Amino acid sequence: MPFPVLAPLLFVLGLCVGSFLNVVIARVPQGRSVVRPGSACPRCGKPIAWFDNIPLLSYAVLRARCRHCGEPISLRYPLVELVTGLLFVLAAWELGSGLNLVAGLTLIAGLIAITAIDLDCQLIPDVISLPGIVLGFILSAIAGRPGWLESLIGILVGGGLFFVIIVASRGGMGGGDMKLGAMLGVPAATIAERTGIAFQLTNIIRDVREDALLGRVYLPQEDLARFGRQAGELAPERLVANNGNGFQAAPWADILRFEADRAREFYRAADELIPLIDEDCQPALWTLVTIYRSLLDKIALRQYDVFQERVRLTVPEKVKILSKGFVRRLA
Ligand SMILES: [Zn+2]
Repeated sequence: MPFPVLAPLLFVLGLCVGSFLNVVIARVPQGRSVVRPGSACPRCGKPIAWFDNIPLLSYAVLRARCRHCGEPISLRYPLVELVTGLLFVLAAWELGSGLNLVAGLTLIAGLIAITAIDLDCQLIPDVISLPGIVLGFILSAIAGRPGWLESLIGILVGGGLFFVIIVASRGGMGGGDMKLGAMLGVPAATIAERTGIAFQLTNIIRDVREDALLGRVYLPQEDLARFGRQAGELAPERLVANNGNGFQAAPWADILRFEADRAREFYRAADELIPLIDEDCQPALWTLVTIYRSLLDKIALRQYDVFQERVRLTVPEKVKILSKGFVRRLA
């Protein structure tokens, strides 16, 4: 099917799938059924009629409020719908209309649900990632690309390596990340290991304060010992005393710089691999790696003080990197 015909169909399909993903994102972490009961307003409990449940349109018509009680509707709902619609169109642009597209759309839907749930609750549900692994393997076996053997190796590398990281970081990464690694390992075996470790290290460095406030310290035990630090120094009550302003960040700079240098080594190792993967995938990977690296650079600029506020890229900074990645895509 030619792209101009396929694109609007896929956009509408994406909106509907996105609407369903919203249900998945809200209910799966609570262990509730995604089928029954139908959607209802979380405040007044009134069922949401079909005409109030039309992707994007209903949000606009209702002006982001429940028809009955006026409870505000989260921007997440139309956002998930829109992103799914756009990514479905993009997938058709990249993959054409064959079995690869089916695999791509499935992966996109799964990853959107996983991303939103992980952001929301810091967990990756098995009911999404485990079937994703099986489905990815079956699709690759049918499509013959990348081939069932490569696919199996991908599952083992993706899942196995994450397993090593989980053990090495003593819980720094959850089992959910491992299963996600295995799911992604299907199409992208070789690159997953180096970038996976680098991204995870970057996240650990960036989130030291947020994790500590939740009672978790993911910096490796042996490094803490080597730099003369103790996990107990990051107790939540110490961090929130004086609104965190009294917390001494300087003694933590050495260990954080050390972990950042480790992450940089893995990024360099990933750089060597990027030219070896499919040319079409290179700009996307470059963009992702550049975004994460910029986070490390920002942390370095702050003398590794991650205790005041979470380091983020501003929208202009992200747009700059994304547009550079896009130019590479066109070149
Ligand atoms: Zn209501």
